[in-house]
Amino acid sequence: MALCAALAVLLPGTGRALDEDGHAARRADMIRVIERHAFSAVKALGRRRIDSRVLDVMGRTPRHLFVPERLRGEAYDDRPLPIGYGQTISQPFIVALMTDLLAVGPEDVVLEVGTGSGYQAAVLAPLARRVCSIEIIPELARSAGQRLEALGHAGVETRTGDGYYGWPECGPYDGIVVTAAASQIPPPLVGQLKPGGRMVIPVGGPFATQWLMLVDKLADGRVKTRQVLPVAFVPFTRRSP
Ligand code: SAH
Repeated sequence: MALCAALAVLLPGTGRALDEDGHAARRADMIRVIERHAFSAVKALGRRRIDSRVLDVMGRTPRHLFVPERLRGEAYDDRPLPIGYGQTISQPFIVALMTDLLAVGPEDVVLEVGTGSGYQAAVLAPLARRVCSIEIIPELARSAGQRLEALGHAGVETRTGDGYYGWPECGPYDGIVVTAAASQIPPPLVGQLKPGGRMVIPVGGPFATQWLMLVDKLADGRVKTRQVLPVAFVPFTRRSP
């Protein structure tokens, strides 16, 4: 009995003994946590719920396969986790919120800046027609590309590069999601948005408050911005010349 209790405490920490059912159960718990969190963030969301299509996809996406093996037991906690190279996979609630704000339609072409582990791209893939994701750290770009392909997301295109300049050949875009905090909204990204398109981006310097911003490009090309929520993202970096 004492041994069982000890095991029960140890196993969640290591995560190694969790089978697919165990991960699925934790994923379902994660979705409930996201729903509760959304309920308490009504003002930021402008409504009480995250789009059910977003929650469905996140309920199916194996986040444990996007984190280092030693952290798999924590993959469905609602917090960011390290993925190497000083970077993190975003907190699940923030992924849900950003995807919801992007309001992706089935015919949309979406750009992600900051592929990282590939998790956000995997969540976007079933919701959009085409997802292009750019990452500045070559090793992360490569491993995320391989991971997405192995998981059957052949439709996601990835490449290494400085996302400040976007990815013009893949655009123009209905939606752009930036997953690292920039000190200002990069003008080339606004340029690659279609009129009527939207961008979700954390804005703020490394020592200043960062705000998640929703950027709407109006039909006449003008831009409207709204501060959604204070957030904490890894910094947007630039490639040294
Ligand atoms: N969306 C990722 C989160 C990654 S963290 C996920 O789901 O796992 C942010 C990522 O942005 C990091 O991998 C970082 O290397 C990348 N990044 C930072 N500045 C960048 C830039 N200028 N262009 C492209 N990627 C950048």
